[in-house]
Amino acid sequence: MTFDWKHIIAGPCAAESEEQVWTTAQAIAQSVPDEIRHKLIFRAGLWKPRTSPTTFQGIGDEGLAWLQRIQRELDLPVATEVTQPEQLHRAIEAGLRHLWVGARTSANPIQVQALADALQDHDCSQLTIYIKNPVNNDPALWIGNIQRFLSVTGSNNQAPEVYAIHRGCNHRPCWDMAYFLRQQMPTIPLLLDPSHMSGDANRIDCLCKNAVQLQYDGLMVEVHNHPSQALSDAQQQLTPAQFAAILGSLTEEEEATQLTWLRQMMNEVDDELWSVVARRMEVSRRIGEYKREQGMEIVQPTRYEQMVTSRLAWAQSHDLDPHTVRTIMDALHQESIRKQK
Ligand code: PEP
Ligand code: MN
Repeated sequence: MTFDWKHIIAGPCAAESEEQVWTTAQAIAQSVPDEIRHKLIFRAGLWKPRTSPTTFQGIGDEGLAWLQRIQRELDLPVATEVTQPEQLHRAIEAGLRHLWVGARTSANPIQVQALADALQDHDCSQLTIYIKNPVNNDPALWIGNIQRFLSVTGSNNQAPEVYAIHRGCNHRPCWDMAYFLRQQMPTIPLLLDPSHMSGDANRIDCLCKNAVQLQYDGLMVEVHNHPSQALSDAQQQLTPAQFAAILGSLTEEEEATQLTWLRQMMNEVDDELWSVVARRMEVSRRIGEYKREQGMEIVQPTRYEQMVTSRLAWAQSHDLDPHTVRTIMDALHQESIRKQK
């Protein structure tokens, strides 16, 4: 593997016990290909921003000592997520030099600014801050967050090193967002997080290949010693062996052009398009059920003509050819009738 990645960040979604982080870190360090061992950073979340208050919220401060041991005894730098200034202070005081701002925090510029301001109290010369894209597809906010950290100066008058992490939205890549960032901030190193991007351990492999193809500067991947027992994000975590196998299987790709990016965007739009078609057919099936129960006719020409008329007017205002729109609508309508029957 010869492509030039700056950092490979790997580790569990959350630190759960000392045994879990230690075993996972050791296994990752031992199994990754030799040529990337020096680029490896171990990740583990201590303070987890979770959707539901009834799930595991992270081990908190107690896990700092576990992460310190990994740095000391495995000679492996550790990264964790910070969501508030107090967490940032405690992580830096514990000797962590790699901190990330998660997607939920990244959606709130006031919280991001508070974190950036908190850095003024610290020597930033050895720090790297990673900014994930916000949970919503808002590339301008992502860029704004990066600028907030680029313009902070620590106690030694130096800014931290700033990386971006592309983790997508709603388990979709949103390649357009990363392309925009690349265009606007070509010097900011960009990592891909295939775990949160897909939410599915089976899709990590393919997304890592995309990262090589699109010349990302590295990866952040969730790796757990027993993924099925993980207290958070169980379905998207890889075992250390699976992770090492994926890294070992990656091969150099041709240099990415604008066309490479545009084709990725096109594939994503097609994925969305076909899932919308599938959703439409599911609604059709339910309408069919209703009509059958009520003894109604399946085909209702007046309703269809109304739909066509309003859609053709819409097509005109969106620079779409009315004949093409009509052809697509007729095909969808025929399929809906088939579904309802
Ligand atoms: C995480 O990295 O575990 C995490 C919470 O990710 P995100 O902020 O991307 O959802
Ligand atoms: Mn996670």
